[in-house]
Amino acid sequence: MDDTQYGTRNKRGDYVPNEPAQYAPLFSFPPKPAALLKWLPHYFWPYNILFGLSALAWWYWILPDVEAMAAPSWGWVAKLFIINLVSIFVWFGIFEFRLYIRRAQGSRFKFNAKWPSENPSSAFFFKSQNIDSFIWTVFSAIPIWTGVQVIVFWVYANGWVPWLTIAENPIYLVCLALVVPILHEFHFFCIHRLFHTPFLYKYVHSVHHNSVNPSPFSSLAMHPVEHLLYLGVMAWHLIIPSNPMIALYQLHFAGFGAIPGHVGFEKIEIGEETAMDSHAYIHHLHHKKFEVNYGDGLIPLDKLFGTFHDGSPEAEARMLARFERKKARMKARAGKAT
Ligand SMILES: [Zn+2]
Ligand SMILES: [Zn+2]
Repeated sequence: MDDTQYGTRNKRGDYVPNEPAQYAPLFSFPPKPAALLKWLPHYFWPYNILFGLSALAWWYWILPDVEAMAAPSWGWVAKLFIINLVSIFVWFGIFEFRLYIRRAQGSRFKFNAKWPSENPSSAFFFKSQNIDSFIWTVFSAIPIWTGVQVIVFWVYANGWVPWLTIAENPIYLVCLALVVPILHEFHFFCIHRLFHTPFLYKYVHSVHHNSVNPSPFSSLAMHPVEHLLYLGVMAWHLIIPSNPMIALYQLHFAGFGAIPGHVGFEKIEIGEETAMDSHAYIHHLHHKKFEVNYGDGLIPLDKLFGTFHDGSPEAEARMLARFERKKARMKARAGKAT
């Protein structure tokens, strides 16, 4: 496929899409009903449907019955841990293998001209982005992911929070399932903005940002504190009346859903002439420029707070002007202090 029909390459060979990054038309004001209808299938397909189905599969085939959930034992928790681990490696591995190991589409649509393996850095364990990502994923992400699941189910199974059934509350629970991506975006924006405050950035979030040129396995390369808050999004379903299956969907949306922002390609080629949008551009710009795009493009929170970057020269100028204002404020504050 000819990627130059959809974008250009700069002097370094980095790919820049012609179309600036855009918000989903879900919260446009004034509303854009035609754009909303055209976009709506993308709300469901492919990611939301896949993560909804994976939550159902876990619920019916992998998790134990309610009695066992009420009193967790090492047997089923260990089984759950292994299944979570294998499935995340298979899911991330599909993208990593095709795009980074086989390099099936070469550098077509690739944002960063370099491959992560070409940039050994002492910021990573063993100077390798991939080994570093494996370590954070295996020893922090999956144990915390499994732990969050076990605790939330334990609370539900003991009847400490309301467990709404689908038979009695079908409309409410369907609406709640539809809101899962919106709740995720709100939660992610808030914790992510918090992680960009100086102390938390330095000691926690910088682990994730070591991947300036992210690849699929960077998706969950995070500090344990970040894993806890990021995957802890599932706990919202202990506060709002819900059902554990929807809570599980929320967790899968965060865990498996971390990948779209980190594939490193604007489009993923499916055949000779077809490609699907990766939806990676907004988060890729965040990894490249740091203090922009704390959200993922569903709720226009970055627009509201003046931190949205759509990849255009105008957005770049706005960002630089914002940095100048910040510098001037810090200087003025330092002046007052002395
Ligand atoms: Zn960040
Ligand atoms: Zn990221």
